Amino acid sequence: MALWTQRDAEQATGGTATAPFEVTGLSIDTRTIRPGEMFIALSAARDGHDFVAQAFEKGAAAALVSCVPKGVTGPCLVVPDVLDALVALAKAARARTQARVIAVTGSVGKTSTKEMLRHVLSRQGATHAAEASYNNHWGVPLTLARMPADTRYAVIEIGMNHPGEIAPLARLARPHVALVTIVASAHLEAFGSLDGIAHEKAAIFDGLEPDGTALYNADLPTTPILARAAAKAGQALGFGEAEDAAYHVTEISISADSSAVRGEIALQPGHPARKFLFKTGAPGRHLAMNAVAALAAAEAAGAEWDIAALDIADWRPPAGRGQQEVIRLDSEIDASITLIDDAFNANPASMEAAFEVLAATPTGPGGRRVAILGEMLELGPDESAMHAGLARHPALDRMDVIHTVGPRMQALAEALPERLRGLHVAQADDLGEQAHNLVQPGDVVLVKGSKGSYVSRVVDVLRNL
Ligand code: ATP
Repeated sequence: MALWTQRDAEQATGGTATAPFEVTGLSIDTRTIRPGEMFIALSAARDGHDFVAQAFEKGAAAALVSCVPKGVTGPCLVVPDVLDALVALAKAARARTQARVIAVTGSVGKTSTKEMLRHVLSRQGATHAAEASYNNHWGVPLTLARMPADTRYAVIEIGMNHPGEIAPLARLARPHVALVTIVASAHLEAFGSLDGIAHEKAAIFDGLEPDGTALYNADLPTTPILARAAAKAGQALGFGEAEDAAYHVTEISISADSSAVRGEIALQPGHPARKFLFKTGAPGRHLAMNAVAALAAAEAAGAEWDIAALDIADWRPPAGRGQQEVIRLDSEIDASITLIDDAFNANPASMEAAFEVLAATPTGPGGRRVAILGEMLELGPDESAMHAGLARHPALDRMDVIHTVGPRMQALAEALPERLRGLHVAQADDLGEQAHNLVQPGDVVLVKGSKGSYVSRVVDVLRNL
C-alpha cells in the first residue's frame, strides 16, 4: 500500500511534483534505498541532491528535493527546504493516524526500552518504531513520516545532544505517553550538570497530548525535577523501587540469563494495589527496570499489561547493547567463549550495569570473566575521575582481568587493583590484533565502550576467532 501519494505529499508539504507518484516508503540513504521508496535529499556531510540520480537508478519512485538536479527525470517533489518538508510530512502522518503514540527519552535505555515496546506492542496491534536509533532533529521526523496510516501503536525515541532539542521533537510527536528512562551522566559536556540534563529530559512532557501520561524514573537524585514537570500531565506516574512509585518494584531476582521482577501497581493513591510478577528475557537490573517502564508505557497506551508481561520474557537485547552470544573457538573440540557485545554506547551508568551482568554470568570450566573496555566519551571535565571511579564498583570482585583501550581509559587502568590489570592500549585495533591471546575457552568476555572508542572492532575480531 502507498505510504504517500503525490496528492497527500503535496498537500502536507506545500511542494509541487514534477510528475505523478506513489511511494511505499521513505529513504535518506541510497545504499539502503528499496524500489518504490521516496528518496529524501537531506544535506549533512554531503548534499543529498548529489545522490538523487543514483536513488532513481536503484528504483526510487520519487525524490524530495529543493531543486531538481541536472539530468534527473524521475518524479520530484520540489519544496523550499527538504528538512522542513520532512517535518511537514511527519506532522501530517501524525495527524492522519489514530495511533497511540509513546515517546521515549533518557540518558541511557532509550533504544532498549523502545525495542521492548516494539516487541510487546506488535503482538497486540500494528506497531511502528524506527529500526535504528533515529532520535534526532531528522530521525524523529523521518520516523513519524514513515508511520503507516493504520498504525495502532507508535514508539518514538527522542534523544539530545544539545539543550533545547527535546521539546520541539516531542511537540511534533504529540505522544499520549511520554517516558523518561533514566537521567545519568551522558552528554555532560553540553549540559553541565545532572539537574540540567533532568530539566532537558523532562521537556518531553511538554509535547504530551491533553490527558496524556507522563512516566518517569522514581529512583533518581533528579526525580523531584522529573516529577514536578510530570505533574502538568493528565497522569503522572513514577516507576522504580521508591515506595511512592506508582509502578513500585519490590524485588528483582537476577539470574544468568533473566530477571524475575516483582512489584505492585497503584495508579491512584489510596486505591488498592495490583501485584505483578514477570520475567525478563535478558539479564541485568537495568533491563529489568527498562522492562517495568516499557510495560507501564504499553499499559498507559492502552495495551494489556498481562499479555505484554508474558511477551517480555522472550525479548533479547539488540547487537551492541548487551547481546550475548556463544562463540566456538575451535570446531574440533568443544571450546567456546560467551561474548557480551555492549560496544555501541557507554557512560558510567551503563558501564556499571554491564559490570553487574558480567559478574552474574557463569563461566565455563577453566574460564574467566574478562572485560575489554573502551573510552566513555562526552563526559565533560570530570571524565578522568569517572573513568577511574569504575575501579570501585563491587562487581569487580567477580572479574578476573580488565583490558583498557584509549587515553581516557588510562585513568581506570591505573586505578585498577594489580590482580585485574590487563593490557592498556592506545586504540581498539591494537587489542584486535592480539585478540586470540586475550581469551581462552570458558571465558565470558564483556566488550563495552562508547561508539567512538571503536571497541566494536574487537567484537568483530572475537566473532571470527
Ligand atoms: P543511544 O542514545 O546511544 O542510542 P540509548 O539511550 O538508546 O543510547 P540503549 O541503546 O538502550 O541506550 O543502551 C545503551 C547502553 O546502556 C547499553 O549498554 C545498555 O545495556 C545500557 N542500558 C540500557 N538501559 C539502561 C539503564 N536503565 N541503566 C543503565 N544502563 C542501561
